[in-house]
Amino acid sequence: MPARTREPREMTALLGPIPEATSPAVSRSMKGNRGKNTAPELLLRRLLRQAGFPGYRLHWKKAPGHPDISYPGRRVAIFVNGCFWHRCPHCQPAEPKSHSDYWHQKFELNRERDARKREELERAGWVVITVWECELKSDAIGAVAGVVKTLQAR
Ligand SMILES: [Zn+2]
Repeated sequence: MPARTREPREMTALLGPIPEATSPAVSRSMKGNRGKNTAPELLLRRLLRQAGFPGYRLHWKKAPGHPDISYPGRRVAIFVNGCFWHRCPHCQPAEPKSHSDYWHQKFELNRERDARKREELERAGWVVITVWECELKSDAIGAVAGVVKTLQAR
């Protein structure tokens, strides 16, 4: 089960191991965009470099919550969120039907953690941008344009 080892330890401690996926669709969602250097992250980083903003740090330890991508000088933090794990408001992926209590709690914890990170960053003067996996899939250029606009304004 190597694909599952990246789940944060605090979650596993609270909820136990992740149940087996019971359908191919759920299995695919679970594998999508977890941990560091995911395909959507790599894509966004490449587009940001091409747009003339190469000076980012990855999982920078001095920024609260260690955002996926941060620009310390501009205080812009970017999270590249997997739609399944972070419960995307745009594409609203279905929750797995089996082990639904487990998933419900897990998603709640993910949501709380995301909100906490955002608050800590904003309190420290950062602008926080969330880019969703599905946005990058459907309109990567548009997603990057939004980020670039914020970067230019800082
Ligand atoms: Zn989505």
